Parts: sequence; structure tokens; C-alpha cells
Amino acid sequence: MFDNLKSCLIDDLEKKKAIDEILNPVVERADFCEDVKQYLYAVEVPPEKYCPECLKQYPGYENICFDCMVRLKNIKDMKSVRDITSKPYIDIKGKNIYEDFDEIFTDGNAKRLEEFDFTFRDYKKITRNIKSSALKQFDSLIKENEILTDHLNVYDFVLLFAKSFVNVEFKSYGGELGIYLYNTIDIDERLTRSLLITTLIHELSHFLIKEIITHILCGVLDCTKNSYVEAVSTFILSYSPFTQLIDEYCAHTVEGRFTLFGYQDYSSYLQIEKSIDDEMDRDEIEVTKSIGNTFSISIKDILESVLDDEVREKIKEQFLNDTIDRPNYGMLKMENCTILKDEGFVRAIWLILNEGFAVAGQNIEKLKEYEECF
Ligand SMILES: [Zn+2]
Ligand SMILES: [Zn+2]
Repeated sequence: MFDNLKSCLIDDLEKKKAIDEILNPVVERADFCEDVKQYLYAVEVPPEKYCPECLKQYPGYENICFDCMVRLKNIKDMKSVRDITSKPYIDIKGKNIYEDFDEIFTDGNAKRLEEFDFTFRDYKKITRNIKSSALKQFDSLIKENEILTDHLNVYDFVLLFAKSFVNVEFKSYGGELGIYLYNTIDIDERLTRSLLITTLIHELSHFLIKEIITHILCGVLDCTKNSYVEAVSTFILSYSPFTQLIDEYCAHTVEGRFTLFGYQDYSSYLQIEKSIDDEMDRDEIEVTKSIGNTFSISIKDILESVLDDEVREKIKEQFLNDTIDRPNYGMLKMENCTILKDEGFVRAIWLILNEGFAVAGQNIEKLKEYEECF
């Protein structure tokens, strides 16, 4: 199967280019005159008030928004993003509604997965759906909580976007920077802002790959998403080094997209690689990482709908403000820069789901544990 997938590999040109640019930098001449000119014209009275209806901003001496006929509020009293609670949920409807694991693990469902009536177009439709529901959620969080996004620091902006996908909680104990489990991200508040941002993005990727796998499972089994199906996809992504490595390498690659190169964290997937003894050879590990890379492309696409070039630039600035360590480019050379062609990727998803489903069906106790947490 791995040899079969190997023949479907192609280069991830974007990732390759980004790494090349760091390892072989070209120094550009800055145009200082333009910058000074822009700065001189940009000085004007900063707004102090806003309309709670339309979120338009006003100078301090205004009191009413005449478009909406409401009293203005002070910008300094704006709600803090940390205090916003959100429990976003992406619905999937299907003909079957499973209320028990016995109803999921039937011969009929195993056969459906084996036959796998699923194409790359279906995959694209799923990622588009996830993107559009997150954007809708982001928009309503802004409106409901009267948030002026241009007054947020870059960490609060990313935090607000993260809250469009998952519930975010804060911890100040333990060794992990952050943990994603059961549609909740726990993040350690003692971190610097730049690390908070990249940790949020890393954990969001774990959520998104789980969400994608759940959507595919629901599509193929024609079922409604619920805690039982989510327990199965959680199991599939965590039971073997093969799927753990896909999940972790994907999160690592997405995080890398938003991190200043040279400050990336490799520990999470290196740990998994180290734990693989004889189960996979070097070639198989690289193909597995390429599967993770391929997932990361659609996850980056979902995140970049809001975390665009401008936000990425601000994240880099935040990194330069926070870090005193020198960048380390040594590990960059070892990055896997290949992805699977569409038909190879669908075959990889087939493998993940069919192997995972079979093992999951023999581990009902574990699934019950997961199910109760959703
Ligand atoms: Zn208004
Ligand atoms: Zn991780």
C-alpha cells in the first residue's frame, strides 16, 4: 500500500519555496522615503467611541450614531476576547442516526467503507463547508460581542478566530503548552503572546483534521454527526503511530506556516517518530508525513481565510518582540516537502478509515470513554 502511495507523491512547492527563502536569503533594499511619507499622512485623531449596532467608530466628542439612532459606547470598555464564551458546532445531517456503537460497527458499514464512494471533489466540498461555518461563527462572535477587530492585538485576534471553531479554556499548570481534546483547546496562559498564537494554531489543526475525518465518515456512512461518530474519528486519529504521525505532522506543518522560521517546535512529532520501532521503515514514515502535509494544505486554506498575509506579518513581528533566542535553521533541511496527488490522497484516506474502523470496532470500551467526553 505504501509503495502504491509513493507513486502518487509530488512536491509541495509552496512549503519548499518558503524554506528555500530562509536557507538562501536574498537581501532587498528598503525604500525608506515611501515609509516616511506614509507615516506623515497617517496621523489623525484616533477614534474613542463606537456604535454598538453597526460598529462604526467615532471621535470622542460624538455621542450618537444617527444611522442607527443609538448612543455610542467607549472603545476602552470593549469586551475582552478572553471573556467571550463560544461553543461552536458544525452540524452534519445524514439518513442514519446512530445511538450506539453496535449500530455503527455493522457488516453493511464496513462494506460501505471498503467500497468508498468518495472523491476528491467530495473532500473539497467538506473543507469548504467547514470554512464557511467558521466564517459565519466568526462574524457572529464579532457582532454579538461588539468587537472592533482593528483594536485587537494579534493574539486576541487569533484567539477570537479560534473561538469560532472550538471552546477555548485557560490553564496555568502542567508541562504542555496546549492540549486539544473533545472540541476544546486548553492553553497555558503563562506563555508569551507569540507562543500562545502558534500553540492555538497547532491545536486548531488537531481539531480540524478530526473534523475533516468526521465529515468524511458521516458522508460515506450517510449518518448524522454525534458523539458516537466523533468518538470513532478520535480513536482513528490516535490509536496507531501511522495516524498519530499524520495528525501530528499536519499540525506541525500548519503551525510552521504561521511561525517565524527557525523558531518552530519539532518535539511533538519527533516523539512519535522515536516511538516507532519496527512498525514502519524510513520510506513509510516519509510517505506518512506526506499524507500529513496534504491534509495541512486544506487546513491552512481554512485558517488563511481570516489569518491572511497581514495577520501573518503581525505574528512575525510578535515573535521578534518576544524572542531572545537565536533562530535555529538546522531542522528545516529535514522538513518533508512532498504531498500526494488527488487520487493518491483519496487512497490514503481510504486506508486511514478502513484500518482505523476495523480496530475501533474491537475497542468499544475505549470508544465509550471518548464518547462520554463529547
Ligand atoms: Zn450605527
Ligand atoms: Zn500536536
